[in-house]
Amino acid sequence: MSAKIMTFNYLCNPNKISMDRTVKDILLRDQFSRIDLIRLLGSEGEDKVLLFKKSAGIKEKFIGKRVWFRGLIEFSNVCGKDCLYCGIRKGNKNLERYNLKDDEILTAAHFAYVNRYGSIALQSGETESRKITGRIENLLKRIKALSNGQLGVTLSVGEQEPEVYKRWYEAGAHRYLLRVESTNQTLYSKIHPDNSNHSFSRRLKCLKSLQEMGYQTGTGVMIGLPFQTLDDLAGDLLFMKEFDIDMCGMGPYIEHADTPLIKHSGILMPLKERFDLTLKMIAIIRIMMKDINIVAATALQAIDPVGREKAIKIGANIIMPNITPGKYRNSYKLYDNKPCTDDSAEDCQSCLEARVSLADAEVIYGEWGDSKHYSERRSDYLKI
Ligand code: SAM
Repeated sequence: MSAKIMTFNYLCNPNKISMDRTVKDILLRDQFSRIDLIRLLGSEGEDKVLLFKKSAGIKEKFIGKRVWFRGLIEFSNVCGKDCLYCGIRKGNKNLERYNLKDDEILTAAHFAYVNRYGSIALQSGETESRKITGRIENLLKRIKALSNGQLGVTLSVGEQEPEVYKRWYEAGAHRYLLRVESTNQTLYSKIHPDNSNHSFSRRLKCLKSLQEMGYQTGTGVMIGLPFQTLDDLAGDLLFMKEFDIDMCGMGPYIEHADTPLIKHSGILMPLKERFDLTLKMIAIIRIMMKDINIVAATALQAIDPVGREKAIKIGANIIMPNITPGKYRNSYKLYDNKPCTDDSAEDCQSCLEARVSLADAEVIYGEWGDSKHYSERRSDYLKI
């Protein structure tokens, strides 16, 4: 073990933080203090088994064995931001940029509709302009029209002004995923350039405005970032609970050779540990927030061939088959070894269906699979 990883473990050693409460004791409840969370995140062996058993039981009780698809269309890798970890950052010149034509996006959406996916997710790099606003608004209307209003749409196109979010909501998007990446501002500033285009407070404001506007609001973090501690991750979990999110999408950080963060790869946890920590994060958030939607992130599969199935077993209930036309997939490489870049949309569907059933779960076709948490939250809000 390298000296730096030892430092990481020492700083976060759960036995040094809480000697008195065992994982078994902590799991008797379902709301946790920061110290409890650090203890759970550090659990190993029998303790880890107990954690996963509890989260799997909660998933079974509140969500059942059901899993919903979001057909993922990565429609452009053009990005105006320079996040230090991301393979499609503006500064990466070793990448062919693409922007799908409207017809290609609509064809992919139509594929999802006729295959009864229930929902699609439109994702791209982050750009803000009147042209992009109008284009997405128009696409949303056309997607609604081609599916007789039946396809649900999640957007994940980054930070925008509230008026933009409003126009897209009115045009038919009803879910939005904007990962906060890390809620520790010091860590956030280490993984982003220090300028107003990468402001932590703006990211939070955007998340708040999405929630206030009525979107089902999703966020998440990367796990295993350089300099990240278990205390940071505990803070992330508390933030998500406090913010009252409806959806969670989080996955392991994986290096990309053409990014500035690669210079810190020597201090990273091994991939297997990042994977394990991600599963623990998913299990804990499922226990804390029983009825939210949780994505089994594709990045899990980059580390473990059955990574997404493992996530479904212990708490996740959403999976995102990639339906981007195959020829573009190699250019949406956020990190090295991104899986499924050579598959077609059909390959993705049959592979995922088999994988989901291996996880003793069942894909539900033809339904949006909205976050139950959202309906509860909105009905409480309307009662006031
Ligand atoms: N730009 C949009 C946004 O930020 O909301 C969506 C696209 S962005 C590429 C999607 C997500 O990819 C980011 O939120 C980030 O968490 C994840 N990501 C980027 N680089 C990554 C890496 N090296 N390892 C793991 N995840 C990464």
